[in-house]
Amino acid sequence: MTCPHCSEHHAHRSHRSGAVDRLYRLFQMIPYRCRTCKRRFYSFRGGEQSTRMRTHEERKIMQLRRRLKWKRTKRELIVYGFAALLVALVIYFITRPTTPQGLSGS
Ligand SMILES: [Zn+2]
Repeated sequence: MTCPHCSEHHAHRSHRSGAVDRLYRLFQMIPYRCRTCKRRFYSFRGGEQSTRMRTHEERKIMQLRRRLKWKRTKRELIVYGFAALLVALVIYFITRPTTPQGLSGS
């Protein structure tokens, strides 16, 4: 993350603390602290990807992370889908109406 005060790429996310941070949170702004000048600043969540705030390498890493996350989500969806199908099949075979043998006997 690029610091707006000293323009160094040494800013990292800062912990939220206090009423001011909570207030900023309402506006979707995240606190950052710069390791070089030790100053704190806020950035919009969407601004995390802007070319002004991120270096080219950082944005490439973020893109890769998002792609991997989506890949994992897709795999999970497939697994859950199969599990749900299996459960549905089991329920179907359990509750399946049996042949009416009882009726013919009476
Ligand atoms: Zn700085």
